[in-house]
Amino acid sequence: MQQNIFTENFTTDPYWWTETSRPDVGWTDLPGQVDVAVVGSGYTGLSAALELARAGRLVLVFDAEDAGWGCSTRNGGQISRSIKPGYEELTRRYGSNTAFGIIREGANALDWITDFVAAEKIDCDFAVPGKFTAAHNPAQFEKMARAAENQPEGLEEPLRVVTQAEQHAEIGTDAYYGGVVNESTASLDPAKFHAGLLARVREASVQIATHCPVTEIEQSAPGFVVKTPRGPVRARNVLVASNGYVGPESGWQRRRVIPIGSYIIATEALPKEQMDRLLPTDRMLGDSRKVVYYYRASPDRSRILFGGRVSAGETDPLKSAPLLRRDLAGIFPELADVRVSHSWMGFVAYTFDTLAHVGCNENVHFAMGYCGSGVSMSGYLGMRAAQQILGLKEGSTAFDGIGFPTRPFYTGRPWFLAASVAYYRWRDGLNR
Ligand SMILES: Cc1cc2nc3c(=O)[nH]c(=O)nc-3n(C[C@H](O)[C@H](O)[C@H](O)COP(=O)(O)OP(=O)(O)OC[C@H]3O[C@@H](n4cnc5c(N)ncnc54)[C@H](O)[C@@H]3O)c2cc1C
Repeated sequence: MQQNIFTENFTTDPYWWTETSRPDVGWTDLPGQVDVAVVGSGYTGLSAALELARAGRLVLVFDAEDAGWGCSTRNGGQISRSIKPGYEELTRRYGSNTAFGIIREGANALDWITDFVAAEKIDCDFAVPGKFTAAHNPAQFEKMARAAENQPEGLEEPLRVVTQAEQHAEIGTDAYYGGVVNESTASLDPAKFHAGLLARVREASVQIATHCPVTEIEQSAPGFVVKTPRGPVRARNVLVASNGYVGPESGWQRRRVIPIGSYIIATEALPKEQMDRLLPTDRMLGDSRKVVYYYRASPDRSRILFGGRVSAGETDPLKSAPLLRRDLAGIFPELADVRVSHSWMGFVAYTFDTLAHVGCNENVHFAMGYCGSGVSMSGYLGMRAAQQILGLKEGSTAFDGIGFPTRPFYTGRPWFLAASVAYYRWRDGLNR
């Protein structure tokens, strides 16, 4: 009989929800008219709402579920510069000036969240522990070490190469071939950050309608009629902030976003001695595989939170848990029998150019497509989207004018995904 891998109090709710209970924003009677309607109450939507409300706009935020129900209270809480393509790749695509600007936006996003958490006094276990990215084979180590030593001028990050002989200072395993520490990577408790942001938004008199899905966004000069099961609301401007959960009400955006499941487990509480041996620092952790693992100690260092992409079509955290536990044991063999207390998932939004996008199409504003690295970028671009709505020049970003690509016949259902995830798994396996 298969061993029960789950603890008695196992739940498919995110680990973060144990300490931060789901917010109750009460009942909002829908107003007939607002200045700005925001679709989605994650970091993007709330950050935009805050900026708009503080500029005097009447703002209504809709969420189909409760506030922050999407990725913003489900993520791993790792905060890096968030730009997937490298400088060379971006230079090939857009030229060196735009490439430089896009990578700078990653640094701007990291600076934004650092300053925001401090200025707004948000209690969310924010820290800057750095990140150790481990090489899963010797060739990757060479590549990573070369890249760390040859960073583009003006875009340097505080990187330090760690050889295999030194790696036990970073992680208690021999499964890797060294790696690179990035001292600038930050971390937080995502649900506490969301709760703090929500509190500021409510203090700014933003109205929030939860369990109220937007079903249609109809152009109706001089603005829009936003339709919901609880009735319509007129809005001068609309911001789509639904990211990986974007639906048919935002068809243009949906055709440009690829929703991909990302999965995390929390282990049961582990003895302090074991935690200190396996994860000797508070650094965020990841590795060089294309189908990446991301992991860390919980902020109280009681357990390991281990995330990754388990399969193309799977959305059941009961099925993803044993797969993630197996992969965790591949790194730490002594955890082969560890029990799992939480297993959950959420949909991140990939894009065809692996870049985030902020802008406006047919007068509908949007900020989305963070490709799994949106803790800082989503709030930062939410703020920029709000500034664009306000007509402020600060709203312009390096993403302006690069286009938001889609593919012929793509409607928002990623039929090609099973093949691509399977391909990358196979390729990573070849290099084990
Ligand atoms: C498991 C997991 C781990 C992750 N780890 C990291 C990490 O470590 N670091 C990092 O930088 N990023 C990480 N991310 C990504 C990061 O969490 C997201 O990029 C970020 O939270 C996106 O915020 P958002 O506000 O744009 O979208 P979300 O927080 O997803 O919010 C979108 C909201 O829109 C609502 N919505 C959708 N359609 C409608 C509609 N029609 N009407 C009303 N409401 C609607 C949804 O209910 C949802 O609440 C992770 C994501 C997941 C799922």
